[in-house]
Amino acid sequence: MVKTIFHQDLADKANFQIDAPAPAPEVKGLPKGGLNIGYEALDSHLGQPTQNKLALRWISKENHIVDFSYQALCQHTNRFADLLDQLGLAKGSRVFTLAGRRPELYIAALGTLKAGCVFTPLFSAFGPEPIRSRMEIGNANLIVTTRSLYRKKLKSWWQELPHLKAVLLIDGNPDNEPGCCDYSELMEKADPNRGCETTQAEDMALLHFTSGTTGKPKGVIHVHQAVQHHIHSAFYALDLKPDDIYWCTADPGWVTGTTYGIIAPLCMGVTMVIDEAEFDAERWYQILQEQQITVWYTAPTAIRMLMKVGDALAKQYARPNLRFMASVGEPLNPEAVEWGEKVFGMPFHDNWWQTETGGIMIANFPSQPIKPGSMGKPLPGIEAAIINTSNSSELQMETQPMQVGELALKTGWPSMFRGYLNQAEKYQSCFTNGWYLSGDLAMRDEDGYFWFVGRKDDLIKSSGHLIGPFEVESVLMEHPAVAEAGVIGIPDPVAGQLVKAFVALKPDITADEELQQELLGLARKRLGAAVAPKEIVFRHNLPKTRSGKIMRRLLKARELGLPEGDISTLESDEQ
Ligand code: ATP
Ligand code: MG
Repeated sequence: MVKTIFHQDLADKANFQIDAPAPAPEVKGLPKGGLNIGYEALDSHLGQPTQNKLALRWISKENHIVDFSYQALCQHTNRFADLLDQLGLAKGSRVFTLAGRRPELYIAALGTLKAGCVFTPLFSAFGPEPIRSRMEIGNANLIVTTRSLYRKKLKSWWQELPHLKAVLLIDGNPDNEPGCCDYSELMEKADPNRGCETTQAEDMALLHFTSGTTGKPKGVIHVHQAVQHHIHSAFYALDLKPDDIYWCTADPGWVTGTTYGIIAPLCMGVTMVIDEAEFDAERWYQILQEQQITVWYTAPTAIRMLMKVGDALAKQYARPNLRFMASVGEPLNPEAVEWGEKVFGMPFHDNWWQTETGGIMIANFPSQPIKPGSMGKPLPGIEAAIINTSNSSELQMETQPMQVGELALKTGWPSMFRGYLNQAEKYQSCFTNGWYLSGDLAMRDEDGYFWFVGRKDDLIKSSGHLIGPFEVESVLMEHPAVAEAGVIGIPDPVAGQLVKAFVALKPDITADEELQQELLGLARKRLGAAVAPKEIVFRHNLPKTRSGKIMRRLLKARELGLPEGDISTLESDEQ
């Protein structure tokens, strides 16, 4: 019997009720026809009670607070759209950003959309090479950045890009760098009433690069229509309500930080909090307390880091208004869900989606019991299935519970990606008979809950067993000494593959043979000898993408002495 976590009070107040789902807010559409994400997020609040409400509270690294009302953000973004006109950018032009989480980044994102241009965020910690390759394949027309990032990462080569018209420097251009413009100077002159370009639902709006966990990052195309699902999913899966104070910890350099860190909360008229600083456990607890966050959306890697720091720190801070916590990006180990319950008095609600899906597809809703370790159920309007793709000529749905297969989604949801940039064939190959194949393996249980097994590429075949790394990693995580685990298959002449685990320990724990044996014993007891790792090695850190995902392909490449492949999104890792 799988244990479940359920809070009746949370369920009673949830937007999503299983028997009678409340209708989610709809897109408003442009007054004269058409659809624009920027309009939905900002202009649609003008003349409404939300007009003067706090839309965005920014906390600088030094703890300065800057507030923007919906109306103020609307005017700033009008100016930015006008600034793009002045620079000669037209509808469809590509605007890239390379900046930390500062207000100008958010203004640029929404101003770009309002101008009918395409927004592409780049993660500010990228080095010159990943920046250049993404700007090249994305035909960047403008990049918005800071002086120091410009000097370190762009200055020596940007003039070679044929489509790039200018570099816009957020913090000014006192050295008169040729080709660079001063953001503040242009914003000052720009029209605060420019308004929104007429765009259509199928016009391209966002170009996002995937995390590069399984290989070279792909450029994923999204259109303005996506906003319909951004709103629905924020309503159903994040349970956002007008009075919420919401904190999404993801950086807009990744899709979560744009969809749920910019667009969805503003469309819902809530107050969102942005922290410029990097992860710091104490700072995060302070923000939850001082800003009185009600809904918090974060990621497994952050939750594991908080767990690593320990419960005592969490208990020093109050969270009187916090009512809902969600997580995305990687499988969320049952241990982490339960840790939420223990320390915060509520579980983390895991949800699943991809850059390609443009929004949350499968979620643990506040109105349903959580089965820790499960991703939850498909959102209203989303049809998900488990497909057996071993027989490639035929599409075979798994109808029996707990059968492993590829997680697929019935095509046609509004935020479905409309292409991989310059990779038409790859895009086509993701679809079969009206289904999108996600590349992830999962199972569905008899109650309709979906369970993540692993990425197709990460699946381990050992002595006839199919083993998903997540299952093994979750068991290792149950041990109090373990902070993180990454599991891969290594070739073996007899078994085909053997399970090998890489484990990072919590601070002050000594890695010795006794602990190794203890972990092996725990895994054997819980998983059986066929599935348990044959070998466990200790590492200080596991290689991760900058968005915090464990890069199993890199563990494997290093283990086997193979080329490391594209490591543009790798966070520097000490072995
Ligand atoms: P790339 O496609 O370049 O290899 P990526 O797949 O990590 O990178 P994203 O689109 O950012 O890029 O991540 C989506 C993937 O993250 C999903 O396909 C899935 O493997 C994983 N993921 C996201 N949320 C969850 C979750 N709740 N449980 C398990 N896995 C998740
Ligand atoms: Mg992917």
